[in-house]
Amino acid sequence: MKKILKVGFDLDGVILYNPIRFVRPIAKLLKPLKSFILKQKEEFFYYPESNVEQFLFRLLHKTSFMADPALKDIELLVKSKKIKAYIITGRYSFLKKDYKVWLKKINADSIFEKCYQNKDDLQPNEFKEKMIKKLNLDIYIEDNLDIVQKLNHHTNAKIFWITNILDKYISYQYKFRNLKEALQNLPKSK
Ligand SMILES: [Mg+2]
Repeated sequence: MKKILKVGFDLDGVILYNPIRFVRPIAKLLKPLKSFILKQKEEFFYYPESNVEQFLFRLLHKTSFMADPALKDIELLVKSKKIKAYIITGRYSFLKKDYKVWLKKINADSIFEKCYQNKDDLQPNEFKEKMIKKLNLDIYIEDNLDIVQKLNHHTNAKIFWITNILDKYISYQYKFRNLKEALQNLPKSK
C-alpha cells in the first residue's frame, strides 16, 4: 500500500507569510542583554507575563498578515493523497482568538487533518516535539532555527527549515527559501 507522508506545518512564518521572520536572529542577540539588565534567568523562549507585554506580543503576531501563496500547493498535495497535513503552532493560549480567526481565513478545515495550538503554554519547542511524536510525523516544517535544532535532537522526523534574509548563509541539510521550495523537496511517497 502507498504510504501517505505525514507533514506538520508551523503557522507563523510557514503557513502565514511573516515579513519579520528575521526578528529571531535580532531577538537572540538582545536576549543576554535583557537577562543581564533584568537580572532574570535566561529562559529558552520568552513568555509575555504582563498585560502590556501580551499586548505587544499580540501586535507582533499581527505581522503574520497573509497566507503564503503555497498554501494552494499544500491543498493539491492533500487532495491528491500525497500527504496528510497538520498545523502545529507554538502560539500561547492568549493568542487563541487570533489563531482561530486565521484558521477560518485560510479554510484550514478543508485542507488540514487537524490543527493544534500550544494552549497549555509549554515552551514552543517542547509542545512541537510532543505533537510530532504523538502524530508520528515524517516531516515538520519550521522557520525558527533554534526550534529546528531542538527538534532535530529530540525527534525522528525530518525537520525542514525555511530560512530568512539574515540567516540564509547558515548551512543546513534541509534548508529552503520558502514554503513552495520546501514542498517541492518532500520525499516522494513509496
Ligand atoms: Mg514560526
